[in-house]
Amino acid sequence: MSFDFNNADPSELARFSALAERWWDPDSEFRPLHRINPLRLDWIDALAGLRGKRVLDVGCGGGILAESMAVRSAAVLGIDLADKPLAVAKLHASRAGVSVQYRHVSAEALAAEQPGAFDVVTCMEMLEHVPQPQSVIEACATLVRPGGWVFFSTINRNALSYLLAIVGVEYVLRMLPRGTHRWDRFIRPGELQAMAALHGLRLRDARGLGYNPFTQRFRLHRFMGVGYLLAMQRAPAGPDTTPAVRAEAR
Ligand code: SAH
Repeated sequence: MSFDFNNADPSELARFSALAERWWDPDSEFRPLHRINPLRLDWIDALAGLRGKRVLDVGCGGGILAESMAVRSAAVLGIDLADKPLAVAKLHASRAGVSVQYRHVSAEALAAEQPGAFDVVTCMEMLEHVPQPQSVIEACATLVRPGGWVFFSTINRNALSYLLAIVGVEYVLRMLPRGTHRWDRFIRPGELQAMAALHGLRLRDARGLGYNPFTQRFRLHRFMGVGYLLAMQRAPAGPDTTPAVRAEAR
């Protein structure tokens, strides 16, 4: 194992903590997460079947995805290393009367503690904020049981993603505060797939995240040039007969 137990950028955690109060305001900096949540939730649920599953949400923040998965009858643990978003997540779940567990622990530390403990692991919009994404990917692969599902989403690294995800989103549309994303931390789908494959995860589905600034709507589509989501499955304990899917985007 090559877990990096010191794999967090304090300036990233401080940024999310500073905004935490507004996490559940659908018109705040977190508007994009609110808008994409029904899309990713339905996609995850259709592939992995959330009802009754033990689910870990890595980098859960204020709990938008974690809480929505609990509403779909999953037993959800959300983890994050920023204190304030976690406090907001706990408060929101208790006010909403939804049962979700939250813990301040890194994916790497939890992987050492509870390997194979989860049916489903989600890690959304988080890898691009971490110094060593491969360590988080390995931790996710360790935390899921054989045959279980791991879902990642992040942003592709190319000229178009610089133009749209940084210049467009932060400077032109001002959907996110300037400095939210660093282009050098973006990850190509092929790189993510290769890092995950090193730890026994196989690609099962891949979607691009599209945004239309005129209608202000998000959708999942085939083009993975900017934001994208990957569904991966850990090999089952016995012989695996399911054919792996080939990545289309690099
Ligand atoms: N996954 C959530 C929140 C995304 S925002 C969603 O998609 O709705 C990114 C989150 O990653 C923030 O809450 C931030 O605190 C968290 N994060 C950043 N670095 C982290 C790290 N090293 N370990 C755990 N969480 C981290």
